[in-house]
Amino acid sequence: MWGLATSLGRLSAVRQPPGRAAAALDFATMKQSIVTLDMEGVLTPEIWIAVSEKTGIRELRRTTRDEPDYDKLMRGRLAILDEHGLKLSDIQKVIGALSPLPGAREFLDELRSCVQVVILSDTFEQFAAPLLRQLNYPTLLCHRLVVEDDRIVNYQLRIREQKREAVAAFKRMNYNVIAGGDSFNDTAMLLEADTGILFHAPANVKAQFSQLPSVDEYADFMALIKEAMA
Ligand SMILES: [Mg+2]
Repeated sequence: MWGLATSLGRLSAVRQPPGRAAAALDFATMKQSIVTLDMEGVLTPEIWIAVSEKTGIRELRRTTRDEPDYDKLMRGRLAILDEHGLKLSDIQKVIGALSPLPGAREFLDELRSCVQVVILSDTFEQFAAPLLRQLNYPTLLCHRLVVEDDRIVNYQLRIREQKREAVAAFKRMNYNVIAGGDSFNDTAMLLEADTGILFHAPANVKAQFSQLPSVDEYADFMALIKEAMA
């Protein structure tokens, strides 16, 4: 009886044994979706924490998890780098030695095989390259550092609230937007999205945004995303 369904649209549904049909994506009926993902903490380690560990400068451990005001956080980081004479190439060396989180590449590969995925990150182009290579070059929208003679003198945000603005723009294009992130700098986009999901979020973020579903395993994350696409 499975062979009777010949249309391409029903192919994904008929491949599944009857008991599992609800969990399968039916490309004929599912919503046209875009998934927007945070990078650090969701797919890769926190870059600044790695730099802190490698350099032994404890103040660099602060992230958006600790300081919700991103500008304040970045100004502080740049001042600390200057104090210690750390250049862009020093930080790039540290990032070059990092790997994505275990299972992140496989999760992202599977996700990208069934839906468009855009990574929305508050990192910088100059930092992201070695991690993107290991993640099979997904699309990334992020910021840029202003560098003079290898010294990071400033940073350039694309626009304020770029994560939330990107999600709002995808929604204006009538996409069903599913967003995932772990931190304070993600919650505006998670709340803006049709479906927002906390992944790997620390307890204080989970408590403050208890209206958002929260998971810690890629398999559970994938299940929630597919549910939101159906
Ligand atoms: Mg993050």
